[in-house]
Formats: sequence, structure tokens, C-alpha cells
Amino acid sequence: MGIYDRNKVLKQNRGKYSSPYKEIGLSALRVVGTKPLKKDKKLSRKQLIKKLDDLIGKKVRARGQCARDGKITNLQWAHIVSRSYHKVRWLEDNALCLCRGYHFYFTNHPVEFARFVVEKIGLIRYEELKELATSYEKQDLQSFYEELKNN
Ligand SMILES: [Zn+2]
Repeated sequence: MGIYDRNKVLKQNRGKYSSPYKEIGLSALRVVGTKPLKKDKKLSRKQLIKKLDDLIGKKVRARGQCARDGKITNLQWAHIVSRSYHKVRWLEDNALCLCRGYHFYFTNHPVEFARFVVEKIGLIRYEELKELATSYEKQDLQSFYEELKNN
């Protein structure tokens, strides 16, 4: 069955089945070397988290220097409010670009870190981020990712 025949079958069956592939069979299409139509793939939650992490992590490190001491090597993506809170995990203004040294230091010195954050973004924004982090509105990761990806 060639590409022309496949299209013909799809056309004939349009509306008859929820998926035309049910009638003609995906495996049959593969055998004759035609590609099944590409469907919008719904990503799993785990896949979305990975994709968002890759996307935003890259953006944050691309700031190019440590927010604490200006170093330009071993840059890492650090979170103002912990990344355990998915509501703020991918917000760029909840992110700091830090060198490995200061990222490690601040992870182990939360009081100094909080002080640094307040100097950097102000107490009001810091409190807003915490509020947002603990709000329980449902989050649609798929739409969130699609939106970010295209910006
Ligand atoms: Zn640094």
C-alpha cells in the first residue's frame, strides 16, 4: 500500500472511526514504509519536569556570572524558594545564577542566604515568592511548558 492508497483509505474512513488507524492498522503502515501521522504527544509529568528543568536551567546559567561574586565558571541554577515547590520552580525571578562555591555555601547557610536574597530582590518580592510557592492552585505543566518553549 503506497502513500496514495493510504490517504485514500484515510479519506474514505474519515469520521467513521475514532482513529482511521483502527481500520487499516499501524503495523501495516510500518511494513510498507509509510509514516503514521504525527500526533501531538502528551508528555508525562516526569518528562515535563525534565524538559522545564533543562529549559530554565540553561536560561539561568546563560546570565553568565555568579550573582554573589561575579565568577563566570561553574555556574549553576539556584533557587530562592526551594525547587521542591513546583509553583515557583521554573520562575526566572525565583532563580539565581550562582557559582558552584556559593551555591554550596548558601545551601548550607540558609540565614545568610535569606539575607542575600532580601538584598537582591527585596523583602516584598521574597514574601510574594513564598506565598506563591505555598498556594495550591492546580498547575498545568503541559501548557506552561508549551508557553515557555516558544518564548
Ligand atoms: Zn560565585
